[in-house]
Amino acid sequence: MISRENIIAAQEAIADTVHFTPLLHSDQLSKQCGNKLFFKAEHLQKTGSFKIRGAANKVKQAVAQGATSVTAASSGNHGQAVAYIANRLGIPATIVVPEDVATCKMEAIQAYNGKVVKCGLTSAERLPKAKEIAKEENGVYIPPYDDPLIMAGQGTIGLELLEQLEDVDAILVPIGGGGLISGILTAIKETKPSVQVIGVEPQLANDTFLSMQKNQLISIPGTTTIADGLRTSQPGDLTFPVLQKYLDDLVLVSEEEIREAFRLVLERMKQVIEPSSATTVAAALFAKTSLRDKRVVSVISGGNVDTGQIAALLS
Ligand SMILES: *Cc1c(COP(=O)(O)O)cnc(C)c1O
Repeated sequence: MISRENIIAAQEAIADTVHFTPLLHSDQLSKQCGNKLFFKAEHLQKTGSFKIRGAANKVKQAVAQGATSVTAASSGNHGQAVAYIANRLGIPATIVVPEDVATCKMEAIQAYNGKVVKCGLTSAERLPKAKEIAKEENGVYIPPYDDPLIMAGQGTIGLELLEQLEDVDAILVPIGGGGLISGILTAIKETKPSVQVIGVEPQLANDTFLSMQKNQLISIPGTTTIADGLRTSQPGDLTFPVLQKYLDDLVLVSEEEIREAFRLVLERMKQVIEPSSATTVAAALFAKTSLRDKRVVSVISGGNVDTGQIAALLS
C-alpha cells in the first residue's frame, strides 16, 4: 500500500509540471446545500483533468529508469495526460483508443504529438494491445489507476487541500477505478484523519459501492452513465484495499442529479466541468450525505466536455 511519504515524493517530482489548482467557493450553492461548499478546481489543471498528476509521476520515473517510449489504453483524460507528459519529456507516446473514438478526443491526443492506434470497442481489447505495443517498442505501459506511482500522484490533491483549507471537514471524491480517491485517502487519513472522505459513484456505475458492501471485488456489466470517466467495471486490486481501510462513506447519484449539478455549476459559477465531476456536486446539493454546516470540498476532477455534449446536457 502507498503511504503519505510516497505522496510527498510525488508532489516534489511533479511540481514543475502540474498546477497547484485554485479552491473555488460559491455562496449560492453553499446556501442550497446547507454546508460551506468549496470546489477543488482540477478542471483548470493542465490537460483539463487531475490525471496529469499520476501520469507525470509515473512517466517521469519510467524515463529516469531509461524508458524511451510509453503506451496507454484510454481515449479520455488519462490518454491525454500520458501524451502530454511524454511530449514534454521528449519521448513518443502511443495511445490505444476504441474504434468509435470521438474525433475531438483523438485530436486532443494528437495535439500533444501522441500517436493514436484504434483497437476494438472495449477496454478488454485495448489493454492487451497497449501492453503488446509497449513490449515491441521496449516501452513502458502506463496504467490509468492501479499503480502505486499513479495513486501517489493523484494523492497530491489531498496535500494541497490541507494547505488551502486547514479546517476542512469533509471531501467528496468521484470514484472510477479508485486511483484518485485512494491517493486522497492516503494523504488525508495519514495527515489529518478527522477529515471525512466520502466517495461518489453514479447509480449506473456502482461497482465500488457493491464491492464495499460485499467486502470483495465485484464487477458490473458495461454501463452508459453520462459520467464517462467513472465507467470502469470494477475497483482496482491496489486501490480497493485503501478504500476498505480508510473510506468513511460512499454515496450514489442519479443521472438526472448529475445533469442538474452540471447546469447549476455552469449557471451559478460560470465553470465548465465534466459530468464525472458533477457527481460530487450532486452529492452535496441533493443531500446524499449527512453533512450539515460543515466545510465541504467537492473535488472537480476534470472539465473535458465537448460542445456537443454540453448542448445535450442542457437540453
Ligand atoms: C479518471 C477520472 C475519474 C476517476 O478517477 P479514478 O482514479 O479512475 O477513480 C474521475 N473524474 C475524471 C474527470 C476522470 O478523468
